[in-house]
Amino acid sequence: MSSKVSFELKATDGAARTGVINTPRGDICTPAFMPVGTAATVKAMMPESVRATGADILLGNTYHLMLRPTAERIDRLGGLHKFMNWERPILTDSGGFQVMSLAGLRKLTEEGVTFKSHIDGSKHALTPERSMEIQRLLGSDIVMCFDECPALPADRARIAESMRLSMRWAKRSKDAFGDRPGHALFGIMQGGLESDLREESAEALKEIGFDGYAVGGLAVGEGQEAMFDCLDYAPGYLPEDKPRYLMGVGKPDDIVGAVKRGIDMMDCVLPSRSGRTGQVFTRHGVVNIKNARHSDDPRPLDEACNCPACTNYSRAYLHHVFRSNEMISGMLLTWHNLHYFQEIMDGMRTAIAAGSFAAWEADFHAGRASGDIEPV
Ligand SMILES: [Zn+2]
Repeated sequence: MSSKVSFELKATDGAARTGVINTPRGDICTPAFMPVGTAATVKAMMPESVRATGADILLGNTYHLMLRPTAERIDRLGGLHKFMNWERPILTDSGGFQVMSLAGLRKLTEEGVTFKSHIDGSKHALTPERSMEIQRLLGSDIVMCFDECPALPADRARIAESMRLSMRWAKRSKDAFGDRPGHALFGIMQGGLESDLREESAEALKEIGFDGYAVGGLAVGEGQEAMFDCLDYAPGYLPEDKPRYLMGVGKPDDIVGAVKRGIDMMDCVLPSRSGRTGQVFTRHGVVNIKNARHSDDPRPLDEACNCPACTNYSRAYLHHVFRSNEMISGMLLTWHNLHYFQEIMDGMRTAIAAGSFAAWEADFHAGRASGDIEPV
């Protein structure tokens, strides 16, 4: 265990990287996928089950937690780790993105953003300083700078103006964060799909100096091809010796494509949210468990998967409990999805270390292209 947060790059294969982020709460093997625990829970999962899927770190949402139960209450109760019974590292977002996507009646100024809660309409403000305070009260291990991100497509002038505001907020975030041994602060690169704006943003962040760097402003409606085009150059603007985090990504093939292009960390609600809507990710692509073809199928979702859903239950059972709205449906399918995502990460880490990422990637795509097993 380390008393500070540090990053050790262990191997590279092309642009893909594998390493370890050391923190006082445990190591994070990269590339890492972070399950999302929005309201101090990864929905339908016990924390020990999340850990059993292979997750080293969770993501918590500042926006949701500041509204309910509030950061001050979580602090009084001993911090977010104790509150939600997750002792390993937690990364919290800054709240900025969710204010933009969820809150009503936003007002954006140089100072920050004021908004109305989507829960009860109450009025709140977020600034770089307040975001740092909330993330400190939560006890977050990896704190994100407060930033602003326009939805794509947006015109270049709007993207440039927003990026420069985010860079001024990044400096205020760093000043407010101060010196907190054992905790890390990540800067967030913006600039949309404009290479020169991405580079300008990266230079501004490096000048301030952060423990890690996120590629922000992607996965906001631009599509996979445009995202990959941006990732072909954007990670290269960031320091090699710090972790690079792609926020809010994604589907399995998004994740693999991002790692191939030099990304070390990702988060997404997809595996857990899909688990609750009957959408299952497997080595052979997507399976919709509500489909009638599964109703008499005694076989597991994936015979090669050793998660509890695949080890102990048939497709017929999973279909039945989904159709019956039984809670175990969301529990089992979420477990499987998170397990599968972590298996992808583990496979990539091993392949990068062995210098065989291209072969692993070809195998990954071939498996998904083969499609689901034939109906019984
Ligand atoms: Zn499984």
